[in-house]
Amino acid sequence: MDAFRFPGLPTRVVFGHGTLAEVPREMEALGRRRAVVLSTPQQRGQAEALAGLLGDRAVGVIAEAVMHTPVAVTEAAVARVRALDADCVIAVGGGSTTGLGKAIALRTDLDQIVVPTTYAGSEMTPILGETRDGAKTTQKSQKILPEVVVYDVDLTLGLPAGLTATSGLNAIAHAVEALYAQDRNPIVSLMAEEAIRALARALPVIAAAPQDRAARADALYGAWLAGACLGTVGMALHHKLCHVLGGSFDLPHAETHTVVLPHAAAYNAPAAPEAMARVARALGAADGPQGLYDLAASLGAPTALKAIGMPEAGLDRAAEAAVANPYWNPRPLERGAIRRLLDDAFHGRRPD
Ligand code: NAD
Repeated sequence: MDAFRFPGLPTRVVFGHGTLAEVPREMEALGRRRAVVLSTPQQRGQAEALAGLLGDRAVGVIAEAVMHTPVAVTEAAVARVRALDADCVIAVGGGSTTGLGKAIALRTDLDQIVVPTTYAGSEMTPILGETRDGAKTTQKSQKILPEVVVYDVDLTLGLPAGLTATSGLNAIAHAVEALYAQDRNPIVSLMAEEAIRALARALPVIAAAPQDRAARADALYGAWLAGACLGTVGMALHHKLCHVLGGSFDLPHAETHTVVLPHAAAYNAPAAPEAMARVARALGAADGPQGLYDLAASLGAPTALKAIGMPEAGLDRAAEAAVANPYWNPRPLERGAIRRLLDDAFHGRRPD
């Protein structure tokens, strides 16, 4: 056994069916009495339903979360939160809504409760990506990490089929990179392998029967584990490429992860054979990268960057950006090989 550090996971987690009803109790346990509920405009109904459940413990609803956490949206929300004299924020939604809650907490130090409705995993991390004038910056702080996460499987039953598949593969991407992280440890590796196993088992069942409660529970459990991996150990080439592609070409978040993952895994496979053997085992496949590609294809998820808005003329710039600020990766970053990886991802070729 190699030496390791395990930093622990301080976020309190409540998991089950119908757990939304426990949010008032969780708020009380934090000693909070005045919540602002956050959502996207599309999920305003769910935010208002939660505000109704909280009664006079909810002092307002801000249904203005959007993708990429623009600073202007955050600043307007912070002004409203202060005017309402709120003492906590409750985010109901995916990574975009969680991002708004984190951005508010960073500026106000208010407690956060998150009720996730996708598999993105942001709720388990001390990481916040924000955009100002189109430029995305990422920062880490314990102020950003939510205090409580309430996973209610029932809220995921209506997650549309496309987002279920891509968001699930976004979660699997956190787990794959955790398995070869520089600061990996045995606990996180167990969680990562189990996350891949749970999601790979659940997603095909959900594709056939979106309301299958047991499969939805499995998928959300996998997403929690994957989010905890993302929040605990460092990511590498795959997350860097997705950050570059999302930030520079405005590609959709979960779809980009879905397309890039098999190719980033194939790039790193020669340098991370043990990690890739665990990925294959968890997928029930002969080969990790091919198994990831086949899972996405079988779910009808996108497998090519050209299908999700990437311009072919941008591939050179993306390869440059991916190697511009060196970071740790199990296999050294070689511009030519990364350009070929991007070409494979652009055309949607199955890894060799
Ligand atoms: P999202 O939050 O943008 O949601 C996509 C759309 O689906 C929204 O309109 C949302 O309202 C809707 N939606 C969400 N759940 C639904 C449900 N159950 N039923 C019906 N509609 C639903 O998408 P996402 O993929 O969850 O999050 C992406 C964002 O999260 C990106 O900005 C990404 O950078 C960020 N993210 C951050 C971290 C981190 O650790 N900081 C981790 C993962 C993702």
